[in-house]
Amino acid sequence: MNRKYIEGLKQAAFEEIDLHRQRIIELGKSIWKEPEQGFQEYKTAEKVAAAFREIDIPFESGLALTGVKGRLTGATPGPTVAVIGELDALINPDHPEADKDTGAVHACGHFAQIAAIIGAGYGLKSILPKLSGEVVLFAVPAEEGINLDFRKGLRDEGKIKYIGGKQELVRIGAFDDIDLSFMQHNGEGEGPVKATFRTNNAFITKVVRFSGKASHAAGAPEKGINALQAYTIAQAAINAQRETFKDEDAVRVHGIVTRGGTSVNVTPGEVMVEMLLRAKTLEALKDVDKKINLSLRAGGMGVGAAVEIATYPGYLPLVQNSQLADCWTRNAEAVLGAGQVKDMGHSAGSTDMGDLSQLMPCIHPLIEGGFYGTLHGSDFKLFDEDTAFIIPAKIATATVIDLLSGEAEEATRIIEGYSPPLTKKSYLDLLDSYSYSEEFSSI
Ligand SMILES: [Zn+2]
Repeated sequence: MNRKYIEGLKQAAFEEIDLHRQRIIELGKSIWKEPEQGFQEYKTAEKVAAAFREIDIPFESGLALTGVKGRLTGATPGPTVAVIGELDALINPDHPEADKDTGAVHACGHFAQIAAIIGAGYGLKSILPKLSGEVVLFAVPAEEGINLDFRKGLRDEGKIKYIGGKQELVRIGAFDDIDLSFMQHNGEGEGPVKATFRTNNAFITKVVRFSGKASHAAGAPEKGINALQAYTIAQAAINAQRETFKDEDAVRVHGIVTRGGTSVNVTPGEVMVEMLLRAKTLEALKDVDKKINLSLRAGGMGVGAAVEIATYPGYLPLVQNSQLADCWTRNAEAVLGAGQVKDMGHSAGSTDMGDLSQLMPCIHPLIEGGFYGTLHGSDFKLFDEDTAFIIPAKIATATVIDLLSGEAEEATRIIEGYSPPLTKKSYLDLLDSYSYSEEFSSI
């Protein structure tokens, strides 16, 4: 396919995005103002649906409760490329613009992802007859692995099975018709806009109950078993394990106490803890899992408390597909300038794009600019709409054009050169293998 012709298509699509600049910005800002937590993004999903109707993009909604999947069909059959945006906010009640009732705020910038995929919708719709295959613009729920109690409730009601939005979408078959996918995450940055690639850790979650015996903390301490002391011993044992972790495994173990006692003059009879265990590989994660279970047991054993450990699947390691990364980088550098895309190695954070990256060619670059502060922090704030919404829309559009123009030669080459680490079945079996519970009592 003639290079000049393809560049012409990109320019035409960019003009269409510029023409709808105000609408794209207005959508992004409107989502910022009404942040919603994972699997509850109903208003946000409706905003996406309204935008699809405006652009005349057919869509399905209500996927994994709130997912919205728009579909653009090219002139001739070919591969399907998904451009993904995440619907959910996170919880940070300290953020000055957090929702007063829920504490939700888009401090991970997901609102900008949604504006960008809608922007790409405007651009791609205008040149659709020049493309082969299909483009799925996919607004997906619940990336942040938070609010575990609520999600467990949904699972108990049979509404979801897994805590991650993309995991649920894979389970229900919403990714069965997609061959290749990419997502662009926003990041903070006040200087020239740059983009970065990182691989990410896998994680699993634990909900732990230490059960002791409540008693009068001063009058009858000998009759009590202090569950908070059990957790203190467990914490010490966990910290002792940290020196056994290999640097290259990028292990992180962190948790919060969600119930720590009821009254200061009562020996805490029950303590609840939520934990995330992260590592670069599944093999390392298995080792961490085993060690942390021992540490938690040690807490119970130390004071004679019972320990229940419920373990649940989190996300898989993120692998960036190098050929797709090359295609994206070429287009990002055309917009951001040469040398503005960098490989930053590994990050200890996690994303459910990791799960998708085990099933199909995927990338998850970060476009850093347009926001003050730090991701997830109380100071995270938009200051440049073009960098946050319009530039990512153009990079996504240009990447899809490279992948699907002509007879979709570039997408086909990437798909043919790829062998997935997991099949859908082996993936779901693997997730299920992380779901187990054990009880330990030393009384
Ligand atoms: Zn995020």
